[in-house]
Amino acid sequence: MKLIFEKSRKNRGCTILPPCDVPDAGLPASLTRKKPARLPELDENEISRHYSALAKRAFGVNDGFYPLGSCTMKYNPKLNEEIAGLQGFKDIHPLQPEHTVQGCLKILDLASAYLREITGMDDITFQPAAGAHGELTGLLLIKAYHKSRKDTARTKIIVPDSAHGTNPASATMAGFEVVNIASGTDGCVDLAALRAVVGPDTAGLMLTNPNTVGIFDPNILEITDIVHKAGGLNYYDGANLNAIMGIVRPGDMGFDTVHLNLHKSFSTPHGGGGPGSGTVGCKQLLAPFLPLSGCGLDGGAAKGPAQSIGRVRAFGGNFLTVVRAAAYLLTLGKENVPEVARNAVLNANYMMEKLKAKYHIPYAGPCMHEFVISLEQMKESIGVSALDLAKGLQDKGMHPPTIYFPLIVHEALMVEPTETESRETLDTAIAAFMALYDQATANPDSLHASPVNTVIGRPDDVKAARQPVLHYTPA
Ligand SMILES: *Cc1c(COP(=O)(O)O)cnc(C)c1O
Repeated sequence: MKLIFEKSRKNRGCTILPPCDVPDAGLPASLTRKKPARLPELDENEISRHYSALAKRAFGVNDGFYPLGSCTMKYNPKLNEEIAGLQGFKDIHPLQPEHTVQGCLKILDLASAYLREITGMDDITFQPAAGAHGELTGLLLIKAYHKSRKDTARTKIIVPDSAHGTNPASATMAGFEVVNIASGTDGCVDLAALRAVVGPDTAGLMLTNPNTVGIFDPNILEITDIVHKAGGLNYYDGANLNAIMGIVRPGDMGFDTVHLNLHKSFSTPHGGGGPGSGTVGCKQLLAPFLPLSGCGLDGGAAKGPAQSIGRVRAFGGNFLTVVRAAAYLLTLGKENVPEVARNAVLNANYMMEKLKAKYHIPYAGPCMHEFVISLEQMKESIGVSALDLAKGLQDKGMHPPTIYFPLIVHEALMVEPTETESRETLDTAIAAFMALYDQATANPDSLHASPVNTVIGRPDDVKAARQPVLHYTPA
């Protein structure tokens, strides 16, 4: 497909502006362009077709099944978009006088109360703009806490090898040293390995529970207790709350701080890099270090506590993600929040049980909201890899699952169906998996050619990551 710049033809614009009828303001020469900006010139019809063609090449939740493990690509009710689009929410300015935005402050207050109740935390900040940003913020709270107690020898953050890649990265960015611990054969935290590494240099532990193989760690209370007894704090990576919302609370599992991705579990669409929210909750002991004083109706939103870690983002964060979360929670009501979690877990177990007939599921207990398939045996015996199968699934009209993650499972396919899919959709996806298994067995080579039905076949992933060409040099 041609770029819009390549389609451009000189003087082909589509603006009809009358001649200027006011005197030229006469900008200083230092502020004016020496050459006109290079903008594409097309007629309106071609512009419209260009963007429609681009949109058709993308795959989103609105196009089909999207079981991208750890990403929660679920359906976000359109109602929440409509509410976030209301003028009173979308057309405000952060420096507007407080008495003109009381309704918005009320929404922040409501969302804060609901999310504190769901996580079991005492305070919250909506500033962080993404999950990894929330991790950094939560870790800076932990750092500030130890510093305030002059406990400066605590320089290490323990991260299990099943963790999301952002965890060790955030800990490093926050100035900690990362201590990796291997998971046990059941995919959970190895208690002996944890006991062996905690000590006076432990600042804290970062954990996702259910973990990235989709298992709820039965020893969670013991784990958080081991860290607390060693003087460390516990960080809960709650990017993905689908499996537990309304059922169990990180606060009750012994965690001191948690981040939530409102753009995963709480109805802000994501995938295009658009505005997100890595909302961070914390227990009272960390509240004095929060970026902002909170979001009370007292208008305290712009003030920071004396020991605050400072701003991590301007003003109150991406406010409209909070509006969507509040609308979502208000629509569900307290009784239906756990229903979301139950359905997410039910859908994942339904798929996992059916796929077990042909596929190898290394951690085969009942799963939570996602499960992991390993194609290691298939790769070894007939040369069909997780990548090949993912490409084959694309040909069947669905988005592939997450592949090669978590790292502790070889040739991993991580499937997260989410609660918003119907039984018919799940059955169609299961049939696609089964058909591909048979195809792989009968004719392994055919899968090396997949996908054949998509606009792009197999791009060079390494080159795309290492030498991305992100700008256009005009001829
Ligand atoms: C998605 C995810 C993150 C990172 O969230 P971003 O918004 O992409 O920065 C962190 N941890 C887990 C478990 C996740 O699934």
